[in-house]
Amino acid sequence: MKSYNFDTVILGGGPAGMSAGLYAARGAVSAAIIDLTMFGGQPSNYLELENYPGFDKIGGYDLMEKFENQADKFGIQKFPMQEIVSIDLKNKKIVTREAEFFAKSIIIATGAQPMKLGIPGEKEYVGRGVSYCAVCDAAFYKDKVVAVVGGGNSAVEEAMYLTKFASKVYLIHRRNELRADKIIQERAFKNPKIEFVWDTVVREIKGDSLVNSLVVENVKTCASDLLNVNGIFPYIGIVPNAEQFSGQLAQDAKGFIVTDEKMQTSVEGVFAVGDVRTTPLRQVITAAADGAVAAVYAVKYVETLKDIPQKV
Ligand code: NAP
Repeated sequence: MKSYNFDTVILGGGPAGMSAGLYAARGAVSAAIIDLTMFGGQPSNYLELENYPGFDKIGGYDLMEKFENQADKFGIQKFPMQEIVSIDLKNKKIVTREAEFFAKSIIIATGAQPMKLGIPGEKEYVGRGVSYCAVCDAAFYKDKVVAVVGGGNSAVEEAMYLTKFASKVYLIHRRNELRADKIIQERAFKNPKIEFVWDTVVREIKGDSLVNSLVVENVKTCASDLLNVNGIFPYIGIVPNAEQFSGQLAQDAKGFIVTDEKMQTSVEGVFAVGDVRTTPLRQVITAAADGAVAAVYAVKYVETLKDIPQKV
């Protein structure tokens, strides 16, 4: 097994991790980013962003490629496809299936993943009518009927994207008011292919070899109904990719990692950035800003270690 030593090891190569990598490498410490898959994180699957400053509109994949190219320029070392087998945050040791990494500081940028509905049929029909990525799978639903669940920015934006392919999109929300930003809501209300199903939750996903219907329930009247659809896209929020750290640092009730304003976690020399941490806003720009802050303080932390006499 290969063994590496770095001043800073960043876990996760989305916008927070890439930005941290850029700042750490530019701050003249030796820095590496390791990722479970390839780099780019969640935004790589976003069709388009129109709220990243400096770009009127840019594809998520294109933006993340720019992040990566810029970090490369400053000499970040990248290790894709690294499944973490064990991690010791206090002693800054990370073991993956292929290598072990010893660090002086760690920046956790592992992001978050879609929250599951947790209803019968959901697990069984993943890839056969249940999808968590409209951009990846929308084309399979040309002239078909699909449902999106949720009322946040993701649900509404993805519902609009799906209307490019599907003949009809039900947007099923548990309340009668959306959570999404007003500008996004207004666009969705004008879209004739979207039918809003208010005050409703999905109780079961049904089908044969593929999804063909949903059992839905109106939460006000408790009336049940069967909605014929070919696909369902749950967008009901996110859960942090932080399970592997639990018990080693402070997390909030939902498992997000708690940091101070310098992105420092409860473990000295360990920082957390982006969607994985407790934060009031989860955007590419806030993730990138977190990464910059954490890297600056990780570099400072590594410098302080040089002044401490090492045990022989
Ligand atoms: P979100 O804003 O947390 O919205 C989740 C939605 O799902 C809410 O409407 C919620 O209902 C509903 N929900 C939660 N649990 C549910 C359940 N068990 N059953 C049914 N419905 C449920 O999540 P998100 O839309 O994934 O966005 C996550 C973050 O990314 C947010 O900060 C968002 O602003 C950001 N984002 C931004 C953009 C953009 O700016 N362009 C795009 C995508 C995402 P309630 O409303 O009743 O709570």
